[in-house]
Amino acid sequence: MPYDRLWIDGKWEASVGGKSLSIENPVNGQIIAEVPDASRADVDKAVKAAHTAFYDGRWSKLTPSERASAIWKLADLIDRDKEKIAQVESDNTGKPYQMVSLGGDLPFAIDNLRFFAGAARDTHGYSSGEYMKGYSSIYRREPVGVVGQIAPWNYPFMMAIWKIGPALAAGCTIVLKPAPGTPLTTLMLADLIAEAGIPDGVVNIVTGGNDTGQAIVEHPDVRMVSLTGSTGTGKKIMKTAADTLKRVHLELGGKAPLIVFDDMDLDAFAGVAAFTSTVNTGQDCTAATRVYVSKKNANHATEALVEAMRAVKIGRPHDDGVQMGPLISGIQRERVAGFIERAKAHGAQVLTGGTVPAGFENGYFFEPTVIVGASQKDEIIQSEVFGPVLTLSTFEDEAEAVAVANDVPYGLAASIWTRDIGRAMRVSSQLEFGTVWINDHIPLTSETPHGGFKQSGFGKDLSAEAVSDYRVTKHVMIKNG
Ligand code: NAD
Repeated sequence: MPYDRLWIDGKWEASVGGKSLSIENPVNGQIIAEVPDASRADVDKAVKAAHTAFYDGRWSKLTPSERASAIWKLADLIDRDKEKIAQVESDNTGKPYQMVSLGGDLPFAIDNLRFFAGAARDTHGYSSGEYMKGYSSIYRREPVGVVGQIAPWNYPFMMAIWKIGPALAAGCTIVLKPAPGTPLTTLMLADLIAEAGIPDGVVNIVTGGNDTGQAIVEHPDVRMVSLTGSTGTGKKIMKTAADTLKRVHLELGGKAPLIVFDDMDLDAFAGVAAFTSTVNTGQDCTAATRVYVSKKNANHATEALVEAMRAVKIGRPHDDGVQMGPLISGIQRERVAGFIERAKAHGAQVLTGGTVPAGFENGYFFEPTVIVGASQKDEIIQSEVFGPVLTLSTFEDEAEAVAVANDVPYGLAASIWTRDIGRAMRVSSQLEFGTVWINDHIPLTSETPHGGFKQSGFGKDLSAEAVSDYRVTKHVMIKNG
């Protein structure tokens, strides 16, 4: 398949602007592909195709059952090609191949699509009736229209599925833009979408950078924009979308706390914390980032965490038992290192990591890192690092634990570690996060909503709520007789 074209109206089209982006393998910095950097004219063409496809009803007017069949077929085709897709994803991101193909991204993305195929047929929750004498009311849940969907680089394929799955289920048509550095597996989706029988123009894929995204957000025929990305980009998009009063759906950054009470097995906890802070090299919006333990457990927790972080196996995608690959780019590695240098300058100590691992000087590898001695207002506690970096801090009591956990701008995910069910329920009700796990961190399912509070955004990915976000309610009132 051609990586040098855009997928518009069911065809591979050359970009009108003619510019391109070089795509790198973060394991060794080699260029593995060139893709178009789509221009405003390309975006306009893609939106026109999506607009025509929406208004002639080739997708929106299918029955839910017909839409569900096509989405399910797409899931089957991805399942058929999952090893090929996983290899390209691994080449483009440096992720351990086994984690993409068997353990994580691909199987989950397939399950997500199958869920959305089912959810396409679920129209529950709205009743019709006679609310005024002589009149009947009907509620219609209709697709929003053309949606612009803008994805990040951390789980390129899975994020593309989280975007298109609910929008397709709702009956919308789509202009999808992957992140500038990681577009390859999203482009691979195009031919599968056609093979699944999803009509031309329903999903259009434009590769490009932030200007391409901006052109999508500004376009007057786009009714809604869904972004997964950083909080800064979310704010910009919301401002731009205000000019055309678009609906926005924002899945933004996170800074997940783990609150560990005294009744937990600290060694078992440390293993989970190390795994969930280094999964995807810490480039995960729900990754474990801030560990809070009671003062009396500080020494034991510190030793256990350092040991668990040192045990994480760094490696290249096909290395035996590899758990963590490189960061996505040289820029990202500089960014992560910069956070650590500034934390040290503020008096924090790096207990392990904080540097490039020996033997991994090529590519963008970085060691799992544990930092202590940072104060709550320090940048390393307040800002999203997006790397394999954990801070460890202490609390006196439950009230302080809740206060420090909530005291960041983000509100995506948190976890509580205790065997005391009363405390778990009490604390979970006080945490301002879209997901709260008890005695674990990070598991997700297709059926359960994922999305943030505060500056982590609003709207949900996954679950029936995501489909609902791509629908609008129309009230039709009928005079009886
Ligand atoms: P980013 O904000 O730099 O870019 C995300 C996407 O937005 C890219 O496709 C980019 O080209 C586009 N973009 C940037 N500026 C734009 C603009 N002005 N108008 C339109 N589009 C624009 O984010 P990233 O670095 O690719 O991804 C990492 C971020 O994503 C992290 O903050 C992470 O927490 C967040 N994230 C959140 C979730 C979630 O579910 N909440 C999931 C994954 C990642």
